[in-house]
Amino acid sequence: MTLPLEGKAALITGGSRGIGRAIAERLAADGATVVVNYARNKESAQEVVSSIVAKGGKALAVQADVSNHAQIRRLFSDAEKAVGPLDIVVANAGVHIEKPLIENTEADYNYVFDINTKGVFFILQEAAGRVRPGGRIIVVSTGGTKMHFPKMSLYLGSKGAIEQFARSLAMELGPRNVTVNILSPGFTDTDMLPEQYRAYGASLSPFNRVGTPQEIADVSAFLGSDASRWITGENIQAGGGV
Ligand code: NAP
Repeated sequence: MTLPLEGKAALITGGSRGIGRAIAERLAADGATVVVNYARNKESAQEVVSSIVAKGGKALAVQADVSNHAQIRRLFSDAEKAVGPLDIVVANAGVHIEKPLIENTEADYNYVFDINTKGVFFILQEAAGRVRPGGRIIVVSTGGTKMHFPKMSLYLGSKGAIEQFARSLAMELGPRNVTVNILSPGFTDTDMLPEQYRAYGASLSPFNRVGTPQEIADVSAFLGSDASRWITGENIQAGGGV
């Protein structure tokens, strides 16, 4: 039986933990050769690669800080050298700060926007020029951009911008048959989810729980596959009904 992503190459930023890890594992299980990017946690990234290889998949880890434009370019060329032209790029790496707007410093602003916004912008730029025709670009945002939360101006502002990047790029890449979609998780059980949001997030869902990274990864498998070819420029909510 041929797997849906057999012969495809995928790059996932922030693939060493949480949602990115689950996406890397899921795309690899569907047959893709996967490049697992990480910033600091080499051990976790290697663990993801080992778990994929142990199941018969193909993967390697590449370190790069996505807040740095030169490192993004190096990440893409290292990935292409290792696995050939890319078919799927998932801009997943992100960070979160929770503080009242009045308390945010310039350093906080630069930290969040350099990774979540500037990083995604230049990942999209590299991806746009490199993915093969028929390719898939997925930008991980958050369902929070449709809600009103205190203390999240920096985080939600940084995510609102990337949703606009993705919509515009989707229109530019249509002629090459490349889709660009936003995948917006709701409250999901990872290191990023603050303790105080677990019970609250569960209470907002009709399923009365937060999501698992695998439930977000299942949606990425659809968006990465041929089955999603008629969907572009959309924001797919994977938030358990929140
Ligand atoms: P996580 O568990 O904290 O993992 C973050 C990942 O991003 C790690 O692999 C980390 O690498 C990587 N990363 C951080 N800074 C980086 C940088 N400068 N360069 C490259 N990689 C970097 O977070 P998560 O919950 O899986 O979040 C993944 C995405 O989903 C984020 O964009 C987040 O905003 C979004 N999201 C999460 C939730 C949620 O409830 N968890 C909800 C909505 C949206 P290292 O391991 O090397 O640090």
